Amino acid sequence: MSAPITTRLLDLYRIGPGPSSSHTVGPMRAARAFREAALAQGIVPARLRVDLMGSLSATGRGHGTDRAVLAGLLGWRPDTCDVDALLALPDTLREQPSIEWGAQSATLHPDDVRFLPYSAYRHEDLEHPNTLRCTAFDTDGGVLLEQTWCSTGGGFVEEAGASDGASLADPLGAIDASGVHFHDCESLVAAADQANTSIGALVLAHERAVDKRDVRDGLDRIWDAMQACIRRGLEQHGTLPGGLGLRRRAGELNARIEAGDVEAGYAHIARAQAYAFAVNEENAAGGRVVTAPTNGAAGIVPAVLTEVAERLALDRDQVHRALATAGVIGALIKTHASLSGAEVGCQGEVGSATAMAAAALCEILGGTPAKVEYAAEIAMEHNLGLTCDPLKGLVQAPCIERNAMGVAKAWSAAQLALHSDGMHLVSFDRVIQVMKRTGNDMRREYKETGEGGLAVAVNLPEC
Ligand code: SF4
Repeated sequence: MSAPITTRLLDLYRIGPGPSSSHTVGPMRAARAFREAALAQGIVPARLRVDLMGSLSATGRGHGTDRAVLAGLLGWRPDTCDVDALLALPDTLREQPSIEWGAQSATLHPDDVRFLPYSAYRHEDLEHPNTLRCTAFDTDGGVLLEQTWCSTGGGFVEEAGASDGASLADPLGAIDASGVHFHDCESLVAAADQANTSIGALVLAHERAVDKRDVRDGLDRIWDAMQACIRRGLEQHGTLPGGLGLRRRAGELNARIEAGDVEAGYAHIARAQAYAFAVNEENAAGGRVVTAPTNGAAGIVPAVLTEVAERLALDRDQVHRALATAGVIGALIKTHASLSGAEVGCQGEVGSATAMAAAALCEILGGTPAKVEYAAEIAMEHNLGLTCDPLKGLVQAPCIERNAMGVAKAWSAAQLALHSDGMHLVSFDRVIQVMKRTGNDMRREYKETGEGGLAVAVNLPEC
């Protein structure tokens, strides 16, 4: 586990539309990158096509992957696009199948996005389980440009054979520039101990040294987006789209807490769970959320941090440090394992988010770096083997409740670590390795394919 941590905080937390970071945000970014590459080469296509393969094909309809790549080909960005226009985009292009292409125009129809048969393009046949191919054609059907992209989880994308351009170009040099050296959790805790500071403060200083962007300003935007999402989610009622008939619960649970209808001892966890419902219901409806570290698992970190920030009146600096602590846990997992449900199952999504929230909460409550590491370890350890099996390919069931359960697990993990001497048998680094190996061993039916687990529960014979 010596690979450098090249994932920046401001890339791990990415603002974008629901319902999926790997199946919505990532494909939109990939299609937009393809458009930019074509424009840079002066290519004006007569026609465009995007082929979705692997998990993007298996569950992409429920995840809105088709409208996301259409938006990317239009040049829309996940963090700034109009989410209502995005939902309507397939219908808009069906009526008027033409898009602006530089100073000219190109034909684009919703049917130009193809879900290739999953049986012909399964996980094991592809460079990555989430693969898409973008092609620009001339008027005779000749190929002008073709690129294959992988959506690697959390909204990150890589062109097949290349690395994500969002990361710094010279990660080793950048790490040296901060004077802080860590590549795994053990070296991170050692660096914090040596500097006699918290993990959050250390990581924040590190990020400010290595990232050319304004990190504080970026974290403010991320925190504001998280708060706005919770507020919106609490105000919405009714049934979520997609056909499962799932009712929104966030506002109702919050109202019960406000009315004193939940046990006093459970109230703060219940409030955080209401916040998690709010975020994940917004995500399921295609609203704007923050990957933390993915869209499907977007509720846990903001829910836990918002509840404790309100209750303890945390200031912005404390919030920044909490986001940094949670973020570095996500970055470690991304570097040494995966955040992608299609690669390692839900342990990479909800498991990672739970570990991030547990670490941040433990630190807020006064945990030493060793205890913070322990909190993350407990949280991930007790999510090992968690499968990805969303019903109808929608990020609703079990995803929404699973985030609420992640909140409770994060609280328990933080408390168990806090009220310990910090000593534990298995390190967080080792748990990350086990998570990756468990994901590799997991049958593909349980990795965002809709072929196993709860996704087929409705078809199982009664016992
Ligand atoms: S089951 Fe987990 S990994 Fe799969 S879509 Fe839902 S939240 Fe994401």
